[in-house]
Amino acid sequence: MQLIIRECRVLKKAKFYFKTFVLYELFFGLYITLKYFFKKKATLNYPYEKGPLSPRFRGEHALRRYPNGEERCIACKLCEAICPALAITIEAETREDGSRRTTRYDIDMTKCIYCGLCQEACPVDAIVETSNFEFATQTHEELLYDKEKLLANGEKFEKSIALNAEATAKYR
Ligand code: SF4
Ligand code: SF4
Repeated sequence: MQLIIRECRVLKKAKFYFKTFVLYELFFGLYITLKYFFKKKATLNYPYEKGPLSPRFRGEHALRRYPNGEERCIACKLCEAICPALAITIEAETREDGSRRTTRYDIDMTKCIYCGLCQEACPVDAIVETSNFEFATQTHEELLYDKEKLLANGEKFEKSIALNAEATAKYR
């Protein structure tokens, strides 16, 4: 038994020295490089090239308007109540025509965990998460969104929001 073990060790050593002598590791590395050199690249030249995004992707928030320009949000505060991160702050008032609208709608984007619950809770599809993930800032203050910023996002991304809503309608 001991003889077999010793023979195995000798063979292993011989193999190791042979591989070292013929520069096996070096040539194997070169072979791998050459193999992948002609294959389709797995990397993207971001930000000039971007990968596909699911229509259910949860990115930057936006408040939507109806086509006539009226705000969708009816200040029911369901989104504020359901937000697990306590990131949403809403204040509301009743207008002269009896409709309820927000006077303040803030989201602290640094608290948000992008769970999408606010979007799911909204009965009028007012608060939504857009496909935009490129909103990094230099300061914390820039990520404290107010109603004006959220409505501006809604106007900016309305086309893609509507397309995503249509694509995901059967899952909601
Ligand atoms: S995505 Fe989630 S954490 Fe962020 S604001 Fe909506 S409910 Fe709150
Ligand atoms: S965004 Fe939707 S859920 Fe939130 S207060 Fe407005 S209507 Fe209610």
